[in-house]
Amino acid sequence: MNAPSAPTSPSSGAPPLTIPRTLAGQKALVTGANSGIGRAVAIALGQAGADVVVNYIVGEPAAEAVVQEVRRAGVRSFAYQADVSSEEQVDAMFARACAEFGTLDILVNNAGLQRDAPFASMTLAQWNTVIGVNLTGQFLCARAAIREFLRRGVVPSVSCAAGKIICMSSVHQEIPWGGHPNYASSKGGIKLMMESLAQEVAPHHIRVNGIAPGAIRTPINTSAWQTPEAYARLMTLVPYARIGEPEDIARAAVWLASDLSDYVVGTTLFVDGGMTLYPGFATGG
Ligand code: NAD
Repeated sequence: MNAPSAPTSPSSGAPPLTIPRTLAGQKALVTGANSGIGRAVAIALGQAGADVVVNYIVGEPAAEAVVQEVRRAGVRSFAYQADVSSEEQVDAMFARACAEFGTLDILVNNAGLQRDAPFASMTLAQWNTVIGVNLTGQFLCARAAIREFLRRGVVPSVSCAAGKIICMSSVHQEIPWGGHPNYASSKGGIKLMMESLAQEVAPHHIRVNGIAPGAIRTPINTSAWQTPEAYARLMTLVPYARIGEPEDIARAAVWLASDLSDYVVGTTLFVDGGMTLYPGFATGG
């Protein structure tokens, strides 16, 4: 059988699907939810029946647009500006979420950024910014969520778990990435933070898991997919032969947040079109 040729235009997409209402009555907070993956996750959680806090740091109009989209599913939603790397702002955000919605059942730790540079010229500021937002930000938000989950415990009519946390990682928690050592370190750190936390709080029926996206079409990585040449190069890394869409990640997040995945604890779900399958070995090695 001939190998299919990689698509040369970035026109492929996730199939249109209806999200089942598996999260009815639950309260969710999504960080970095006014763009890309976070935006799609917030909308999908709303379609699944959850009320959603849309966290953002800059771009209020985009955050308000996501809120409007979430509300179209008939659920409550509001936008909240907070820097996830600030302890004070994170704690104030969770206090507001619990005041508004009564409690919180789901945290999607999504906010993240890149500050790329070759190792020798990377500044301490570039290093600290990425670790501060991607890793410390997830710690601060997870800690605030865990405190609320422990306080409230399981409410069987809502969910069989006392709370769910989904940590947005990356295939770069596994795949080294030259030129991006701060980003790869932050994602490797997320993996072990997520697993350590999952182990610690599982006896309280709190489930903590991760999602490792591959190449997803969002503003964080436009240079990797915007031209046909870049897209063709990217496809050499993706056995499934299409770029991932934010909705591909959102559907995985809905499942991990729902009771359908109740026995899934401390796992990273790779949603990457096979990127971690060493595609270079498909025809040799
Ligand atoms: P994006 O740039 O579209 O979204 C990132 C979001 O994080 C934005 O809303 C941004 O404003 C927010 N953010 C940044 N700093 C923040 C801070 N200090 N406080 C609060 N919010 C902040 O990019 P994306 O691709 O949607 O990325 C979302 C997550 O997915 C990130 O953690 C990223 O590392 C991860 N990821 C993305 C890809 C991909 O291919 N797009 C692949 C693997 C992992």
